[in-house]
Amino acid sequence: MTHKLIEKSKKHLWLPFTQMKDYDQDPLIIESGEGIKVKDIHGKEYYDGFSSVWLNVHGHRKKELDEAIKNQLEKIAHSTLLGMTNVPATELAEKLIEITPDKLTRVFYSDSGAEAMEIALKMAFQYWKNIGRQEKQIFISMQNGYHGDTIGAVSLGAIDLFHHVYGALMFKSYKVPYPYVYRSDSGDPSLCRDECLQRLEELLMERHDEIAALSIESMVQGAAGMIVMPKGFLSGVRELCTKYDVLMIVDEVATGFGRTGKMFACEHEQVQPDLMAAGKGITGGYLPIAVTFTSEKIYEAFYDDYETLKTFFHGHSYTGNQLGCAVALENLRLFQTDSIVKNVAKKSEQLKEMLEELASLPHVGDIRQLGLMCGIELVQDKATKEPYPLEKRIGYRVSLKMRELGMLTRPMGNVIVFMPPLVSTKRELQLMVNIMKIAIEVIPQEEAILSGQDV
Ligand SMILES: *Cc1c(COP(=O)(O)O)cnc(C)c1O
Repeated sequence: MTHKLIEKSKKHLWLPFTQMKDYDQDPLIIESGEGIKVKDIHGKEYYDGFSSVWLNVHGHRKKELDEAIKNQLEKIAHSTLLGMTNVPATELAEKLIEITPDKLTRVFYSDSGAEAMEIALKMAFQYWKNIGRQEKQIFISMQNGYHGDTIGAVSLGAIDLFHHVYGALMFKSYKVPYPYVYRSDSGDPSLCRDECLQRLEELLMERHDEIAALSIESMVQGAAGMIVMPKGFLSGVRELCTKYDVLMIVDEVATGFGRTGKMFACEHEQVQPDLMAAGKGITGGYLPIAVTFTSEKIYEAFYDDYETLKTFFHGHSYTGNQLGCAVALENLRLFQTDSIVKNVAKKSEQLKEMLEELASLPHVGDIRQLGLMCGIELVQDKATKEPYPLEKRIGYRVSLKMRELGMLTRPMGNVIVFMPPLVSTKRELQLMVNIMKIAIEVIPQEEAILSGQDV
């Protein structure tokens, strides 16, 4: 039976962000999960070391979340949000607004982080049209940002490795440098921050009349390799956006809902965005709900008689799905009763100490962490910071080794990702760090031997 499943998977499936040749060599089929572990069809268990790609909060099969879905199912699974609303979507909107930065007062639902960003950029674009400033049409975004994989989100994001092939389809946007301290010339956080802010200001000074909005991942560039920005950068960007009358779109899809030790990462710098996208942790990792938040000022620019055609013409079949909103509501209740955010802040201190054990390993170049969001950048040569070449696939091989040892994660190039479920205990964190440590020691050693270097 398990053999048949693997055969079927190889015959019919095409997996996201996956070279299927890799899958065919190392198929993995998950059958169940419990707490912070998942189990495959052979009965082997794995720590969910990346929260099933950055989603999971309370662990798998959390009783209260399961119940919330069952209870909602007794009433209705789905009805549309076009021109009307439903009970859980309405209740959830109120609860969300209570926990987001004060300036954000409106909730627009969607099904994925990419779509939440797509909505943010369309709203920003139309906002200026609606108030009679159609010359403001262009976006600014950060080099190596990631906002999802739809064409609009890719036009802002553009990680070369994923997206260069679609270059001709993308709309024009200005890219400004992001403060990647480890790979900056000076290696100094403040210098690196100030240089990047200066480059942004130069662009704004010259072009602000044609710029609609700037988009930025909040506090951490996730897909680029868990790159934590230096203190003062996000608030510096906010100040410049205000000064030059440009809307600020903050992408909290990865960082929102407690991941970094605050409910939303922009709270680290008291930043009030004009638009904010969230997703991932919003349903505790259960169902595809995402949200774009906006200020009242933006909402009001669309509110008018129908014939002015200021309506925001956007929405999908499953927007505001009741099952998803019901489980998101219960997720938010658990955030409160289980003091999730406070606990993440505490556990992130404990984790910081554990990660120090990895810092001395010969191929660990940089360890970056904010809350329970971590990246460990492996380098071929620690002294010169020389990266491993792409074809060595070092991150991938380390992650496969971790899988063998009973933990799942997915690297970003040479960066090992560690994003455990937010409820992971101190002991579980230590056990997962131990697995990472072994894999990060063994694979680079193996690589050195294979390529004939002295060890
Ligand atoms: C995951 C992610 C997205 C895209 O979300 P999807 O739900 O995968 O579409 C957008 N922005 C950031 C920062 C993300 O981490």
